[in-house]
Amino acid sequence: MTHPVPRILLALGLLSLLLGCGGAPKTTTAETAAPTPASESAVCNPPACLLPQAAPPGGLDPASVPMFVALGFDDNGVVGDKTPGAEEAMSWALAMFGARKNPDGTSTAATFYLTTSYGAGGETGYGDGDAQANPAVIRMWRDLHAAGHEIGNHTHTHPHGTEMTVAQWRSEMQRAAAVLTGAVGSEDALAVGLDPNQPVGFRTPFLEYNDNTFTAVRQEGFAYDCSIEEGYQSGQDGTNFLWPYTLDEGSPGHDVQVSWGSRAPLTRHPGLYEMPVYVFIAPPDELCEQYGVPQGLRDRLKQRQDYLDAADGKITGFDYNLWALFQMSGDEVLATLKYTFDMRMKGNRAPFLLGMHSDMYAAEYAESLAATPQERRAAIEKFLDYALSHPQVRVVPVRDVLDWIKSPAPL
Ligand SMILES: [Zn+2]
Repeated sequence: MTHPVPRILLALGLLSLLLGCGGAPKTTTAETAAPTPASESAVCNPPACLLPQAAPPGGLDPASVPMFVALGFDDNGVVGDKTPGAEEAMSWALAMFGARKNPDGTSTAATFYLTTSYGAGGETGYGDGDAQANPAVIRMWRDLHAAGHEIGNHTHTHPHGTEMTVAQWRSEMQRAAAVLTGAVGSEDALAVGLDPNQPVGFRTPFLEYNDNTFTAVRQEGFAYDCSIEEGYQSGQDGTNFLWPYTLDEGSPGHDVQVSWGSRAPLTRHPGLYEMPVYVFIAPPDELCEQYGVPQGLRDRLKQRQDYLDAADGKITGFDYNLWALFQMSGDEVLATLKYTFDMRMKGNRAPFLLGMHSDMYAAEYAESLAATPQERRAAIEKFLDYALSHPQVRVVPVRDVLDWIKSPAPL
């Protein structure tokens, strides 16, 4: 396979992270389980042929399992002129969820993984200077928390992470935690006010991690990690993605990347839950028109980014990849999200965890994109409305999905 390396390296658009794995992490075990053989897809008729890890927890039949849709927004702040309007975009997200209920009448909500220097100020991992303290951004973070959204940890400075030590990871995590859990004593206190005894989720910047990351995540007592990509296995078509798993026996999604040569193997991290970054899948030719776009979407996408495999249409599961790397239109993004969702509904209902960036919905987002801000917002809103039109759907924070996995109950 030739394409996957760039998929990973371009995951968040930073070619500067072309570090390879040469200097990378210490590894002791070679958990290099081969990806699902391609031949398996030929005989697979999901959900009957699900791998053990693709079966819903609790022995439940997929038909009785809630279809979770969990949006996890990264960064959520302002760094000079890189992310103008982040505050306004978070305000849009707050209103979007506030206006929508789940089919069972409960509130919809999402997760926001905060890079805390983007509100509290200080140096940033971009190496281009300090972020200014921004009390308005902090107030927005508090508003999100107060509205029932989950707040997670996305480091303090947003560093490049493939060479970081355990101590460096822990320092980043602790500095962010100090802002997340600091007491909110005054209107301008640069703190969010989370309960320090309540573990939160963690995601690495740029999806750059090494084995030390997970050692640090465990030592810091996080509730889960959500940095590993899943779904590139050749036998997986969206109907049979693995359900979230613990890293007791490593990570199948990570092992695929090891087999491509783009990552070093991980050691085992027993008990640590991985809530993966699942790939998006663009609809195949015969279904494009049904999804509202002209036939040949995958071929058009391949012209924009050659590493796409038009046979599977898989794209790293972050909005940045859709809007920026693939320069997709609003209709193309909506088609891709709907198709990816529909495959889960047809299959094992593995949770649909979407990687997002709130600043991409700001009116003055800094990078040049094909879709206007209105189109970008409308695509996400229309997708949510489509998902919520299914009675089985629950739009909830990632932590709620994990709570359900730990004690699954049928619909
Ligand atoms: Zn980030």
